[in-house]
Amino acid sequence: MREFAYVRVASVSEAIGLAGPVRYLAGGTNLFDLMREEVERPERVIDISRLSLSAIEDLPDGGLRLGALARNAHIAADDRIRRRYPVLARALLNGASPQLRNRATVGGNLLQRTRCRYFYDLGAACNKRSPGTGCDALDGLNRGHAILGASESCVAVHPSDMCVALAALGATVNLTGPEGDRSVPVMDFHHLPGATPEIETVLRGGELVTSVDLPPWPPARGAYVKVRDRVSYAFALVSAAVLLRIEGGRIATARIALGGVALKPWRAYAAEDLLTGAPPDERIFEEAAREAVAEARPLRHNAFKIEMAARLIRRTLVELA
Ligand code: SF4
Repeated sequence: MREFAYVRVASVSEAIGLAGPVRYLAGGTNLFDLMREEVERPERVIDISRLSLSAIEDLPDGGLRLGALARNAHIAADDRIRRRYPVLARALLNGASPQLRNRATVGGNLLQRTRCRYFYDLGAACNKRSPGTGCDALDGLNRGHAILGASESCVAVHPSDMCVALAALGATVNLTGPEGDRSVPVMDFHHLPGATPEIETVLRGGELVTSVDLPPWPPARGAYVKVRDRVSYAFALVSAAVLLRIEGGRIATARIALGGVALKPWRAYAAEDLLTGAPPDERIFEEAAREAVAEARPLRHNAFKIEMAARLIRRTLVELA
């Protein structure tokens, strides 16, 4: 086993003061896999798992703050989440297994890395793992890869369910680092691959995710639906978090976020615009569903995802309406 230094910190300020090539350890559900496969070779692992960042707190504006170390299972079981943000509870319960959800944290879920098989295979070319080496997924087994927002450099997808719900809800990620605190809308947190797929988020050196804020949400129906190869313990081929509010016979609010289709949660803004103000009927749902995938570009083995995403959106809108 490759040696690394293990440091357990007692405060956030101590954690962000440790400069250099470090990895923060929270639940460890992805990091340990990456280290075991030697995809990640950190010199220092900073154990932040005992910091006081696991609370779920009410915000003065009616929203909720999820501590970065709050466990996925605890969030999904929290009564406030279940009542006010059921789409998030459903997304979390669709992820991984009960054992993993007991360990996995909010911050780790945001920062988990792609499950592209070539990324984990040290014998394969992968621009994300080794910049400039190529991408074996482009002409390889790319059934589970991206149809939106990909590049010639990388066609991987982000594996999170939670982030898809956070995207639909319009959550904000709170960060702290050597240069102070800042907040980033969740839709701006992850990068698309472009020419630099190794740069995955807006996190700067030494920065730490401290919490995620959920905005207050007016009564709206929400659903998280996930299509996968197995009923449980599988990543999404396509998933959708959809929120819909109908007032006076018109759609007052529509939010559509997709998972399993891009290297970040994908908001279908143009489809949302089509829906807003329209009467909620099957014609407009079909139109919105097609609009959501209008810019999709399939690879050799994943064209089915385009139809799958469109049908998933349309069906979910019909059910919510
Ligand atoms: Fe690597 Fe991205 Fe290509 Fe997968 S899709 S092999 S992660 S560069």
